[in-house]
Amino acid sequence: MARDPRYDILFEPVQIGPVTARNRFYQVPHCNGMGRKHPTSMAVMRGIKAEGGWAVLCTEQCDIHVTSDSEREIHLWDDRDIPYLARMTDEVHKHDGLAGLELTHMGYHAGNYMGREIAMAPSAKPAYGNAPFHARTMDKTDIADYRRWHRNAAIRGKKAGFDIICVYAGHSLSLPMHFLSPRHNHRTDEYGGSMENRVRLLREVIEETKDAVGDTCGVVVRIAMNEMMGPKGITPDFEGRAVMELIGELPDLWDVNVADWENDSQTSRFSEEGCQEDSIRFVKSMTSKPVVGVGRYTSPDKMVSLIKGGVLDMIGAARPSIADPFLPRKIEEGRPEDIRECIGCNICVGTANQNTFMRCTQNPTMSEEWRRGWHPEVIAPKDTDDRILIVGAGPAGLEAARALGQRGYDVMLAEASAELGGRVTKESRLPGLETWARVRDWRIGQLHKMPNVEIFMDSKMTPETIRETGANLVALATGATWRRDGSGRYHDYPLESAARHAGHVFTPDDVMDGADMEGPVVVYDDDHYYMGGVIAEELARKGRTVSLVTPDASVSSWTAFTLELGRIQTRMREKGIALYLDHALTKVDDGELEIEDIHSSRTEWINCGSVVMVTAQDSNDALYHQLMADEAANQTAGIRRISRIGDCYGPGPIAAAVFGGHRYARELGAPIGDDVPWKRETIELSEVI
Ligand code: ADP
Ligand code: SF4
Repeated sequence: MARDPRYDILFEPVQIGPVTARNRFYQVPHCNGMGRKHPTSMAVMRGIKAEGGWAVLCTEQCDIHVTSDSEREIHLWDDRDIPYLARMTDEVHKHDGLAGLELTHMGYHAGNYMGREIAMAPSAKPAYGNAPFHARTMDKTDIADYRRWHRNAAIRGKKAGFDIICVYAGHSLSLPMHFLSPRHNHRTDEYGGSMENRVRLLREVIEETKDAVGDTCGVVVRIAMNEMMGPKGITPDFEGRAVMELIGELPDLWDVNVADWENDSQTSRFSEEGCQEDSIRFVKSMTSKPVVGVGRYTSPDKMVSLIKGGVLDMIGAARPSIADPFLPRKIEEGRPEDIRECIGCNICVGTANQNTFMRCTQNPTMSEEWRRGWHPEVIAPKDTDDRILIVGAGPAGLEAARALGQRGYDVMLAEASAELGGRVTKESRLPGLETWARVRDWRIGQLHKMPNVEIFMDSKMTPETIRETGANLVALATGATWRRDGSGRYHDYPLESAARHAGHVFTPDDVMDGADMEGPVVVYDDDHYYMGGVIAEELARKGRTVSLVTPDASVSSWTAFTLELGRIQTRMREKGIALYLDHALTKVDDGELEIEDIHSSRTEWINCGSVVMVTAQDSNDALYHQLMADEAANQTAGIRRISRIGDCYGPGPIAAAVFGGHRYARELGAPIGDDVPWKRETIELSEVI
């Protein structure tokens, strides 16, 4: 199909110093958990995005020296680091992309747990977060060293084949930004005090990078224009404008955002698409150089309006490029409705923060490109004549049916209820989670184009009806149900009192189904991801008096990884939800609950009309066991394999259900076997560097 001429502007080339980006799609640096330990996985992931049409593909942060060591990210500490990064530039160049390298020194943010060097800062201060170290004040020698290290790393980057070298001054975690910021920089020499002095180091590093590699590489600055903390931090009106006045013409491109990462990569629960625009809009008026910005942009119309409106020259994206590595190609080929839009859930961030392969709720092939050989757009055509029945149309069932349909299989998708989407449909009605419905909607859109997939609504399947379908393969994607007995992480066994007072006990499923509840409500959260907090918010939205009890020290503690933790604590307080942290529910009674301080075991009674147990889920696998109980009947019906996928197999985040559905479509439920089911990058012992 031909591209819509309205989108032609997105495919204009952009000059970045000595190099030319083929279009306006710029994948900004983003961590992914693979880099240094799994360099081929990282390289192929970036290469596939280049194949998908992204003109510029940047690395994650790349530490330039051992005084900045982060275990998860990549580094260019010396020449021995060049070859593994060259893998990425090779993959990107294969598909005509430009490879960008984000050179980083984290200053006082560097934990340096690996190399044990003392961290450095413009002015001495405790290390970032709660690390039990201090960073020392950099003297003139340190500053000269840092400049030399940066220059050396830029030269190594050029040797590794990078086309763009990015000077990193963003996210409150980079040395040039620490020098820029009065809250970190208390110096009285020529690097502190006046704006001109605080910009000095950034200016020097840009000039030296241009001098070292600017003949063949574009030199880009990634910088935060707003720390979102008012006058205490960097603001667009003060430091932002001053930087642009002083060095606006120095780099070949400005990649501008807000700091810190929690503000830059906000989830859809807390921010709209384009929430950074007010902070960065001024930049273009202060430079003739191209400007890149991010905002979870997935709509080509919005992208065009940003460019025509003079806000941006290139559309920056991390998450939209993860959710759909082929986003630019889909616009170019005139099929923007095929774009798999990011839902803004930050599972990608949350899993990369586990220091390993990131995953994506929308894109189950993310990080699997090399190790499992999964391409986001290409899947092997069917190689059997199996007719396949998928039972349940939640995220697992929908993805399995879609990917099997793409392979050309005859697929029947049977759903008990009158709506598709399972948990995604229900959860997307909870406060802040509306965008999650994209998981369902994209898959339904794709399924409607597939004549070989039949969807049966209002079809609650039983062993008998399953055997009547004529399917050879059956996948049960029947989901999971929240437990109502109080057992979970804290309590290994059911709370007997919960069963005795069952009339007062509810679950998230009940709340999502609109259950009527009495009196003040207590949410007992022993799950620790989003559900407890969201259910409390939903009940508060309905006007209930809500308390939240959790054995954890904060609400929804796993969301520290998805960068939502702080905002969730604030939201609980804004909504007037009373918090009992470090407390477990121990007894349910009429009109009250007993809770226990988990450290002192001291108990107290709190007023409660109803309690919502957010503790654990049970797989809905009864149907599976009923089917498996009569193997002879299955054989007679021609069924050769029965599998469980998604939450029916193991409850977890939506990303895991989508992954399970996708995997089923690729492997048809084949057993895991004895060997590791993916390729590994093992380090040979003889390869000591
Ligand atoms: P997952 O996250 O694993 O996809 P969900 O709970 O979102 O699981 O979806 C499960 C879906 O399966 C729901 O839409 C539910 O209505 C459907 N379902 C459950 N049991 C049956 C059944 N016996 N026959 C058909 N559909 C079923
Ligand atoms: Fe977007 Fe969620 Fe995928 Fe991250 S994990 S790219 S936020 S859909």
